[in-house]
Amino acid sequence: MATVTVKAGPESRPDAPTRRKPDWIRVKAPTRPVYFETKRLLREKRLTTVCEEAACPNVGECWSKRHATVMILGDTCTRACAFCNVKTGAPQPVDADEPRHLADVVETMELEHVVITSVDRDDLEDGGAFQFVRCIEAIRARRPRTTIEILTPDFLRKPLSAVDAIVAAAPDVYNHNLETVPRLYRTVRPGARYYHSLKLLDHVKTRDPAMFTKSGMMVGLGEEKREVLQVMDDLRSAAVDFLTIGQYLQPSVRHHKVERYVAPAEFDGYAKSARAKGFLMVSASPLTRSSYHAGEDFQQLRAARAAQLEAAAN
Ligand code: SF4
Repeated sequence: MATVTVKAGPESRPDAPTRRKPDWIRVKAPTRPVYFETKRLLREKRLTTVCEEAACPNVGECWSKRHATVMILGDTCTRACAFCNVKTGAPQPVDADEPRHLADVVETMELEHVVITSVDRDDLEDGGAFQFVRCIEAIRARRPRTTIEILTPDFLRKPLSAVDAIVAAAPDVYNHNLETVPRLYRTVRPGARYYHSLKLLDHVKTRDPAMFTKSGMMVGLGEEKREVLQVMDDLRSAAVDFLTIGQYLQPSVRHHKVERYVAPAEFDGYAKSARAKGFLMVSASPLTRSSYHAGEDFQQLRAARAAQLEAAAN
């Protein structure tokens, strides 16, 4: 294991006032039986989800459609981003059974599309990359028709060969979120580096130009519109295909405060700008999260590329 200093978590931060949510953010409590079935199966297989760990507002809707984002490599992160609800501390050993359990869930739930993410594992030599590879391989062996989307950490200070191993395992979508504009990294994402994250996305696309790449950001953290538009340009310079933009929600008083609730019409404006800048797909709305509607979006992404290739051929 690599030596790593675990960052202080949210308990060390001063309280930040919370802001009342506007009507367009409110979500209904889950009631459908399939939601509870999904929950039971995930518990039975001892799988962690970012849906719960990040206190995602869409959990009722997603789990009721049998869509969940599995978080591998434990439930404890070695970073302490100011926006994130996942706990920080000394992480657990890597679970060798995790890929098999994940494949069990994919098979039992007959998932057509699965999203896999992880905590940051700065303590591991490969940053956890090979567990992603093992999970991809386990799912492919069990249910080859399931398409696989991964949402990875930044692998900062890890060998590039770790990222290359994931690309070689050929997930259908490689996602890495920039989260916010570069000016806010020091307060929002202090353990990360904006240009490193951008370079990661560029590297993936260079290694495999056919692989779909995706990135996301949150708004409402104090960014300005011109900075969001600059992030879009940066992502296009890395040939990223798909952009998601959603409203930041404050998980607790110990997390970064919501500076502003961005109105739905402003999200429409961002989506329009992003399309004009050449993204194949854009999802921008208050409740958009990088894995929200991921299965349907993947179908649209594929169709958009096919249409683009056909138009280029004519
Ligand atoms: S949007 Fe993503 S993280 Fe949120 S509940 Fe749906 S699958 Fe889970």
